[in-house]
Amino acid sequence: MISDKKSIRFHCQNIHLDSGEFASGEVSCTPGEPMEVFLGEETSASIKLPDTAHLALGRVDPHVHFRESAIPSPEEHAEHGPTEIDYQSLVDNIRKANSGYSVRSGCLSALKGGVSIVGAMGNTPWGPVGPYRHQRTQEHYDKQSLVPIIVWPRMEPGAAPIPGHEGKDFGSTFGGSGLTGQIRKDMYVLWKGESVSYHNDQVRADESIEAFRDRLHPDERLLHHQYFDGSTVLACQKETMDIAESAGVSSLLARHIPNGSALKQILDRSKLASFKLPAEIGLDYMYWNQDRLLQQKRETALINYRRPAHPTREDQLALIELTLETVRDGYAIFFGSDHAPHSREAKEFHNGLPGSPGTRNIEHSLQFYCELVNHYGYTWPDIDRLASINPAKHIAQFYKFPYEIGALKTGAMANLAIFDPEVPYQVDEAALASELEDPEYHSAMTGEKRLRGQSLFTVSNGRVFQVDNGIKALN
Ligand SMILES: [Zn+2]
Repeated sequence: MISDKKSIRFHCQNIHLDSGEFASGEVSCTPGEPMEVFLGEETSASIKLPDTAHLALGRVDPHVHFRESAIPSPEEHAEHGPTEIDYQSLVDNIRKANSGYSVRSGCLSALKGGVSIVGAMGNTPWGPVGPYRHQRTQEHYDKQSLVPIIVWPRMEPGAAPIPGHEGKDFGSTFGGSGLTGQIRKDMYVLWKGESVSYHNDQVRADESIEAFRDRLHPDERLLHHQYFDGSTVLACQKETMDIAESAGVSSLLARHIPNGSALKQILDRSKLASFKLPAEIGLDYMYWNQDRLLQQKRETALINYRRPAHPTREDQLALIELTLETVRDGYAIFFGSDHAPHSREAKEFHNGLPGSPGTRNIEHSLQFYCELVNHYGYTWPDIDRLASINPAKHIAQFYKFPYEIGALKTGAMANLAIFDPEVPYQVDEAALASELEDPEYHSAMTGEKRLRGQSLFTVSNGRVFQVDNGIKALN
């Protein structure tokens, strides 16, 4: 039989084994087929990587916003909603969202960052609410994607759950559904026995951001970060864990944990809880803190909004230390980038308040990891657990992959991140706008001086992409 599948073999001195050791040898990748690992071998047919290069498991990022939405037919809209908006307005909203960002740009950004699989959020105009819309959205993403994407079903009051999946609660997302109290509880009851995740970025109960600004007049670069501080996160997490417990869900994942005390709150609760409490650490909190924002140019700092907010230096150090301890204890902890691309216009201030809080992050995943390895005593096996193995185990509970994921061995799914951690790196916005097919591209990392790490190749289900200079599929 003639096959048009092309195998590509890499030779590398630093293959990251699941045991935490490095080995030299070769790994072969063929689209749609499992990887083959040949330790100790060197053949003439392989791509020879530089001695300083590493070959690790592809990264799995369970938290991205790719913002694109499927467009329903009028019949689908009539049958599956949403009812509060007429068809034409819905389609207009979808077209607007889809013109600003795409699944394709998101996938190119993932590949640039060494990410082979992502989990996508459904806060889109025609979101994955209920089984029908969830499946339609998943199929739409499958069609546009360059890497496997798992679409998280969106929880809404009254919407049927998807058994065996992980529902995403936007009730506690600032700017999200704004659900409170009993409505949120009823929504969790629908997911009894199932898994749920949530954003922990609720507003303060006792003061609006406008009143906070008028009372304290903080530097505008810090307004957001000082309002959505640790106390807002602790209150949101506590309330959500209580709801989860009373509703009887089986697992509750806190998204983008921003500081040490928020992680500690979850770890403490997990010792007593009747349900699992996996923990997602916001990847960019490993790099950003409030002091660093003040060192940035104003306009760059102002695109660096996150909800929950960037921590103080002290809170950041506590998070970095506790994350390391927790992953070494074998806890279900992993990184999520919360890659959330918005246009520059959407990020402008309105009435003295910041606009959309998202930041583009996923394409700089490697540079965030390098920061931890170079400055905070993390090892590459720690990073492999946080960025590849643990998130793979988490999402494999909810989605069927063709082969085992989260393991670097013959027969497992061929997902690889190949990179050189020693190479200095600086953001080139114009080059990235073109490579990522993202005309609105702008980065919070622009102008950062001591970044390191160059992605060389990213492999997703055996498809090899060269990503160091442009992004090219090789097989
Ligand atoms: Zn998010």
